[in-house]
Amino acid sequence: MKSTGPVDTDIVLVGGGHAHVHVLVAFAMRPQPGVRITLVARDLETPYSGMLPGLIAGLYTHAQAHIDLVKLAAATGARLIHAEAVGLDRVSRRVLLYGRAPVGYDLVSLDVGITPALDAIAGAAQHAIAVKPIGSFVNKFNNLREAAGKAAGPRHFVVIGGGAGGVELLLSLRTRLLADARAAGRDAADLGFALVTDGELLRSHNARVRDAFRRVLHERAIALHENSRAIRIDEKSVALAGGRTLPADFALVTTHAAAPGWFAGTGLALDAGGFIAVGPTLQSLNDPAVFAAGDCAALVESPREKAGVYAVRAGPPLAGNLRRCARGVSPKAWHPQSRHLALISTGERYAIASRGGLKAEGAFLWTLKDWIDRRWMRMYQDVDRLLARMPARTGTAAAIKHESVEMRCGGCAAKVGPGPLSRALARLDRPVAGDVLVGLDAPDDAAILLAPKDRHLVQTIDFFRAFVDDAYVFGEVAANHALNDIFAMGGVPRAALATVVVPYGPSAKVEEELFQVLAGMRACLDREQVTLAGGHSSEGAELAVGLSVTGDVAPDRVLRKGGLRQGDVLILTRPLGTGILFAAAMRARACAPHIAQALALMRRSNRAAAAIVIEHAASAMTDVTGFGLIGHLGEMLAASGAQAGLDLAAIPFYGGALPLARAGISSTLLPENLALAGLLAGDVEPHERAVLFDPQTAGGLLAGVPAARAESCLAQLRDAGYEAAAAIGTIVDVRRAPKDVRIAAAGRMRD
Ligand SMILES: Cc1cc2nc3c(=O)[nH]c(=O)nc-3n(C[C@H](O)[C@H](O)[C@H](O)COP(=O)(O)OP(=O)(O)OC[C@H]3O[C@@H](n4cnc5c(N)ncnc54)[C@H](O)[C@@H]3O)c2cc1C
Repeated sequence: MKSTGPVDTDIVLVGGGHAHVHVLVAFAMRPQPGVRITLVARDLETPYSGMLPGLIAGLYTHAQAHIDLVKLAAATGARLIHAEAVGLDRVSRRVLLYGRAPVGYDLVSLDVGITPALDAIAGAAQHAIAVKPIGSFVNKFNNLREAAGKAAGPRHFVVIGGGAGGVELLLSLRTRLLADARAAGRDAADLGFALVTDGELLRSHNARVRDAFRRVLHERAIALHENSRAIRIDEKSVALAGGRTLPADFALVTTHAAAPGWFAGTGLALDAGGFIAVGPTLQSLNDPAVFAAGDCAALVESPREKAGVYAVRAGPPLAGNLRRCARGVSPKAWHPQSRHLALISTGERYAIASRGGLKAEGAFLWTLKDWIDRRWMRMYQDVDRLLARMPARTGTAAAIKHESVEMRCGGCAAKVGPGPLSRALARLDRPVAGDVLVGLDAPDDAAILLAPKDRHLVQTIDFFRAFVDDAYVFGEVAANHALNDIFAMGGVPRAALATVVVPYGPSAKVEEELFQVLAGMRACLDREQVTLAGGHSSEGAELAVGLSVTGDVAPDRVLRKGGLRQGDVLILTRPLGTGILFAAAMRARACAPHIAQALALMRRSNRAAAAIVIEHAASAMTDVTGFGLIGHLGEMLAASGAQAGLDLAAIPFYGGALPLARAGISSTLLPENLALAGLLAGDVEPHERAVLFDPQTAGGLLAGVPAARAESCLAQLRDAGYEAAAAIGTIVDVRRAPKDVRIAAAGRMRD
């Protein structure tokens, strides 16, 4: 689902923390006309702190304990930008992003958690595992399990930090490592555990809770060192103030966490710890356009400990105040309650409850905690439920509100106005290569290129609608896709012309969208040393991009679709399945890791792949795009008068594509592509057929290579980073009329 209607207010949420997931859902349940929500997320899966100990103990799976932000953003209609924020330009209201163009905001909210600060303990940065931020801990924990499993003899684990996080972590870690040892047939007695804390254990809880946990630790033979300060960590030990040293093969630090370093450069008011100082409305003390919530914020009037429970509770007031400010209404004050019920697990299905002076314990409390946590997660994980509860999104209400965009003209009057265009272009530097004589550096009616000597010119054009909400990524992929045609002919791209259709909107929003898409295109073209020499922009109903690319090719290096030879091995350089994955993404069905993997490959150049294939005496080459593998292979076979055998087990496809195809999800173009189904003979199951005919964006190259060179070609492709490159079949007959072309499929695609 996508946001609809013209945008006049951009609310940018930085970080997919506990408060922001609520904001996404709140705006989806009650859309605010003219407001676009954008989530900038460094990690596409966000762990829920309440379930983290259970995940570590093995009581929850990864999927149960994480929110998939790709699915949540798709379901809630938010634009998702997968990037790390590194600063705020508060004058021009832009969030600065690592490695890509900044994104504009009218209101911005920060919920980015904390960052590890290991400086307080000597050697910790080199030898300790930082438990916070929790997002990156899950991977570190998996590495720790692997390393602990390989190590021989006694292994000692020391957790430094006696708060609820540290205690739960240690108890859960012990449960999991003992289970691992038993499963591997190793002696669990070889594992030793210790907890170090510089004050009393669980000092923010009551004495009865503290005693209960002292008892639990004692029962589990966990050495407890209270009022002991860790001062140094090395490879094998943790040194305590006072001279004592504990053996430690693995030291984990949960005590020290700091504010992200980039806060200091924002000019925002910060507290003594460097966290964003906010008032009761969750707005920065010196910039009302900036909100902050969760661990990264410091509520100056009602300071609270850094705990997930407060980040969760900040969600509703934050959503309410962002909405009020977007409507021009005064925000409301929020005073979080000072006490909360803490249900602290003991590493198994047992918990101890703490509230003020009260304490209770039992398995039933773990069951209660489990119920509360699952209920909370369901709100952000159960996409079907979310979509069913959401109002229909027509966008008409939003459109009516916008007098500035009520009536739009066609023809040349549909062009993006000179203001937004020139401002967007001014934000991009415009280097021009020597073979572009007239380009965007001194724009004219047309670009002029120097005609290459002794080479042929190659030209191509592509055009398509946006398949992701992030205009920058869309521009980058579109440019990469367009270059593939030149590479597939054996050519070198030199210059490109772009045509961009930007959704109607106020001029500042049109400028921003145009800038984002051009900046993304330029990121790709710059890497490939291709000059963006000119273009045309227009307003329209939705974002769309076309690129016409001109390149050149040495006459003896031209590769056509025809020319396949008997015995050639068919090599495909990239997996299939982008059509299926992005069809699933639109329905909020695609998983974050699968979309991230696909977008990473779709942004990778095919230039080196083409060069390697050509060096291996390729007979013919094409790029796999809209007609799918079979459609494009069919074209090659028809042009060569050849038949092919296809090994289904060797076909590379993107993670998630096959199960989604099995679930019946496919691109809307698939039925058209299946008109060529007669080309394919053999036992092919419907979901396999869906992958083979799936339209590809920025797909791989498909080439015929002599059998004797195929192995070396594949090895070089993989060395060059095309890990999925595969030999998918062979040319078996080259004396056929085009109408007799057939592809014989054998084998089974494997999940
Ligand atoms: C072992 C352990 C157990 C815990 N158990 C509990 C518990 O049971 N109950 C409880 O209340 N608290 C618990 N906590 C504390 C809790 O984890 C944190 O208080 C909570 O996660 C804070 O939530 P948040 O929304 O502020 O940030 P986070 O949950 O840390 O979310 C921040 C998000 O922002 C993203 N991000 C970070 N930087 C950037 C950037 N520059 N650009 C874009 N995105 C960015 C991250 O990827 C992440 O998704 C526990 C902590 C630990 C270590």
